[in-house]
Amino acid sequence: MTERLVVIGGDAAGMTAAARARRRRSPDELEIVAFERGPYTSYSACGIPYFVGDLVTDIDALIARTPEEHRRNGIDVHTGHEVVAVDVDRRNVRVRDVTPGGGAERDEPFDQLVVATGAVPFRPDVPGIDADGIFGVQTLADGVAVRHAIDERAPKRAVIVGGGYIGLEMAEALVRRGLEVALIDRTEQPMAATLDPDMGALVAKALRAVGVTIHMGEPVEGFDSDGGAVRAVRTGRRTLPADVVVLGTGVRPDSRLAADAGIAIGETGGVATDARMETSVEGVWAAGDCVESVDRVTGHRVVIALGTHANKQGRVAGINATGGDVLFPGVIGTAAAKICAYEVARTGVTEHHAAEAGIDVVTATIEATSRAGYFPGAEPITVKILAERPGGRIVGAQIVGEEGAGKRIDTLATAIWNRMQVDEFASVDLSYAPPFSPVWDPVLVAARKAADLL
Ligand SMILES: Cc1cc2nc3c(=O)[nH]c(=O)nc-3n(C[C@H](O)[C@H](O)[C@H](O)COP(=O)(O)OP(=O)(O)OC[C@H]3O[C@@H](n4cnc5c(N)ncnc54)[C@H](O)[C@@H]3O)c2cc1C
Repeated sequence: MTERLVVIGGDAAGMTAAARARRRRSPDELEIVAFERGPYTSYSACGIPYFVGDLVTDIDALIARTPEEHRRNGIDVHTGHEVVAVDVDRRNVRVRDVTPGGGAERDEPFDQLVVATGAVPFRPDVPGIDADGIFGVQTLADGVAVRHAIDERAPKRAVIVGGGYIGLEMAEALVRRGLEVALIDRTEQPMAATLDPDMGALVAKALRAVGVTIHMGEPVEGFDSDGGAVRAVRTGRRTLPADVVVLGTGVRPDSRLAADAGIAIGETGGVATDARMETSVEGVWAAGDCVESVDRVTGHRVVIALGTHANKQGRVAGINATGGDVLFPGVIGTAAAKICAYEVARTGVTEHHAAEAGIDVVTATIEATSRAGYFPGAEPITVKILAERPGGRIVGAQIVGEEGAGKRIDTLATAIWNRMQVDEFASVDLSYAPPFSPVWDPVLVAARKAADLL
């Protein structure tokens, strides 16, 4: 008898699960049906800042696989369809047609279910938040709306609320489009949740260097508008004129549907799964921004919304939902972002998170150059390593620099992943040639310094 796999959410986690399941089971063995409330499938939200910044000119370029392509691959995709309830006892989902003029609801049965509903952006609950010209950047439609506002209304001044990596990438996009850009955040440094303050200060310097005015430690208190359109952003200390506002105020897991169905939710607010990505209900799997993951350094449960995790978790869910047995091994939060010429990257724990987890660390920060000092284009790079005391296990790293700085974080991520110690890492046989690095790569110099301090 043909089994039925239903997927809720048509982006990174959901469609990776569906595609993986299709590779393992033929349509005769398994029917795969996916519901996506929006118009797109398998799109790259990560590309939105580059579409707004005009590095990518065609929104379709951000779509890895259209609904038609999925259908040709044997996945029955229904865009414009929202799952509004899950009945885990009867094993069916209630689906609503949310296309214009739609509204009809029906029940769809499943044997296996993958919940991949993503994340919900925070919108500050302050007066004026609904004014025209205030944009989130979560979906492709959001990206199109921001770009349209810039193309059509020729705004002059933009304010970005939120100094996380999405806020930073949007700052670059708007600088590229010739706007005067200000960034505000309630925390004291950009990327306060993911970088230590000393490295955040370097990001602040980079933002200023590309012409962004920053106001830190200033929560937004409201928005002023004129005729319905935003005109200014108010903090406790100032009123910043704005023709356009972009919110980069973070996200939380969209676990409401799962919670309403009685599926266990973790303390973090993400759907709780085991390492096979199975939820508390047998045959119901979850993956992506809606779930919580295990931090491999601290062992704590965390929610980190990254496409890298969503793709890997979707793959695991798709394999296991079709009888496989693979594990998702956890996360260390490796991420990189670019602000014009500057690159920022991080992995593992920050000093704050290490202290919270009771990990005693020694930190080593070094300044070097991205290429041999004499080679044209050599630019400053700062590398910080956190190593556990007394053993020397590398538990975190952060890098700020210019071209070639960011991707160096991957060597340190690999070291953390494999529980390497700083003295061991300091001798790793990394490549060297003057156009790429000094003879001692900056990451090795930082590890050597940490080993010396230990
Ligand atoms: C501007 C931006 C830049 C980013 N840059 C990076 C980056 O550089 N690197 C990185 O690793 N990550 C990045 N990310 C994060 C990355 O995009 C997400 O982690 C990833 O998309 C998560 O995939 P997902 O499938 O779990 O969720 P989503 O991509 O959010 O997909 C969930 C889908 O489910 C649909 N859905 C939700 N509920 C229902 C329902 N009830 N019924 C039907 N459909 C439903 C939604 O419409 C959505 O399409 C970025 C995100 C943004 C917004």
